[in-house]
Amino acid sequence: MHRYHTPLDLVRERSPERPVAFARPDAVALAARWFQDNFKGDVFYAVKANPSPWVLETLAANGVRSFDVASVPEIELVAKHAPGARMAFMHPVKSRRSISTAYFDHGVRTFALDTHEELAKILDATGHAKDLNLMVRLGVAAEGAAYSLSGKFGVDAHEAPDLLLAARRATQELMGVSFHVGSQCMRPTAYQAAMSQASRALVRAGVFADVVDVGGGFPSVYPGMVPPALADYMDSIDRGFAEMMVHETTELWCEPGRALVAEASSVLTAVELRKGDALYLNDGSYGSLFDATHTKWPFPVKLLRREADGSAREVEGPLKPYRFYGPTCDSLDHMPGPFWLPEDVREGDFVEIGMLGAYGVAMNTRFNGFGDTETVAVDDPPMASMYGLARRSIPVPRTETHNVVKLSRARGKKRRRR
Ligand SMILES: *Cc1c(COP(=O)(O)O)cnc(C)c1O
Repeated sequence: MHRYHTPLDLVRERSPERPVAFARPDAVALAARWFQDNFKGDVFYAVKANPSPWVLETLAANGVRSFDVASVPEIELVAKHAPGARMAFMHPVKSRRSISTAYFDHGVRTFALDTHEELAKILDATGHAKDLNLMVRLGVAAEGAAYSLSGKFGVDAHEAPDLLLAARRATQELMGVSFHVGSQCMRPTAYQAAMSQASRALVRAGVFADVVDVGGGFPSVYPGMVPPALADYMDSIDRGFAEMMVHETTELWCEPGRALVAEASSVLTAVELRKGDALYLNDGSYGSLFDATHTKWPFPVKLLRREADGSAREVEGPLKPYRFYGPTCDSLDHMPGPFWLPEDVREGDFVEIGMLGAYGVAMNTRFNGFGDTETVAVDDPPMASMYGLARRSIPVPRTETHNVVKLSRARGKKRRRR
């Protein structure tokens, strides 16, 4: 991977025609060490948040030896870039073939399930293996999360005891409970509440869990969504675990995705046209800005400019709100923002969009001939950080924060015209 000291150095050296994703391995390394130092159990990285080889390699080099995977291609990626790592196949719905490939070809022993049918399938596809770790995914309330992950998966409280009992009987190895409080969870107590729900299901089933897996959901920091400190989340989990009916050897696991990678990538996009306060960029909804469209997240931005004499600088000055359009012909390819940039944005300028390490660069498609993105490494700090890395706070004027919060809450509703 090519390396520049800062994004500005790249802009100075050449005007990239295609979007450029910036990789900040140091930010991933710091987050990985923070989780290992502060979470009192095993940390599984949820690969779907960002499956880039540099992410997997950086995590492995910084002590993360466990990965949460959801498909055979993810398993193959982990096997290649973090050889010897332990994997947990945490997708509650898997094909028979992917279960047997995971078990027989890749040594995967841990499988999630949320129905009796999936349990039977796992047993069948592994030839009734005796060394399975079975994780029962519970449906829990997703209060305080920007994204619910409970609508699709998770056994409900009523049916959980019976399924826990069946899983307990099906293996001599580990039987565990897992849940996901929802992604970008803004409320630390959501974990304690979910653990208490898991505890009730275990008590009703009359079984002990060998593993309590609190899932992902740990937040990052975005404009208008500044969460409590991660330490508060760890405290909530400690309290939840202390209150659970578990035995002395019960293991605690977590599956962070976003929190390990969000701040580690930004994307450099080019302004191809300006129409008033609308900027037409060379990246969009079908590229790394899925969340900027579908959940209307206003990511932090910086304006970089290459001058005629070959010099480059970050343009500063009074900010005004812009909206973005991506390069495809689909009118859905629209990011309402507002994104706060200086008044004199021009064609040929570059907009660096921050905090796209999780579910950003990972969402890229090839739709309409776009999506070809190169990745380069940089040394500058992320635009914002949960780990004290950022040099400055998110560049959103204070008076506008209120506006931004409102917009992100008004998800799905039509945006008011200015
Ligand atoms: C997506 C996912 C995660 C990671 O969630 P984050 O909100 O990114 O931390 C963890 N576990 C499972 C089962 C998931 O589907």
